[in-house]
Amino acid sequence: MREPKALILMYHRIGRVRRKSIVPAQYVTAGAFSRHLRLLRRLGFEGVSLARLKDGFEERAPLPARPVAITFDDGQRNFHTGALPALRAQGLPATVFLVSNHIGGSNVWDQADGDVSEPLMTDAEIDECAAAGIDFGSHTRSHPHLQSCSPERRWEEIRGSKEALEERFGRPVDFFCYPYGHGVEECHELARRAGYRGATGCGKGFNDSATNPYAWRRIFIRSDTFAPIFVYKLWRALKRNR
Ligand SMILES: [Zn+2]
Repeated sequence: MREPKALILMYHRIGRVRRKSIVPAQYVTAGAFSRHLRLLRRLGFEGVSLARLKDGFEERAPLPARPVAITFDDGQRNFHTGALPALRAQGLPATVFLVSNHIGGSNVWDQADGDVSEPLMTDAEIDECAAAGIDFGSHTRSHPHLQSCSPERRWEEIRGSKEALEERFGRPVDFFCYPYGHGVEECHELARRAGYRGATGCGKGFNDSATNPYAWRRIFIRSDTFAPIFVYKLWRALKRNR
């Protein structure tokens, strides 16, 4: 049997685009998100966790024919209010990448660039998501541009956030997501050394056992990813890697 090609979707914020946001593409309405989930089902995709993907790539457990993992960056509160209900309704797993120093705070790293303030999930909201089966990964301690950090700071952001989150959850935190994504090739090895089982990079396309597990490719789902574009993006990602 041919090895399945796994897709990983990247979302950020659930809600209507805020007029003054500097990252308007990061908003997807709750209605659009629900439509995406229904489309995945209709197209025969099966939702898997990142742990199940990695197990599949390592041949510990078989993967479904069309695996898809859903990921959310930053741990915004609108995940809890806007995405969790739809994921529960469809029985789909998802991973949220948290910025460990800012739980219960807001997206100060975006605001420093001029963005609107968006609250991040509180401990209680995270616990509620975890109880509903949502997985949590690390997105560093403070969401820096890792390529401009000193080696010590890089390690603290990558390894330190893992330790902080493991302490918080009382279990291993196995997956990492590089903030901003680009220019972090030097960090792939650090993520491996820090003990993560995988990390999401910024390449586009599908993933299989030949993909570097510290540079998993994702599909950026944007505010203008209307249903036909969503289907096209899935098709294009399965077709070729970039
Ligand atoms: Zn981020």
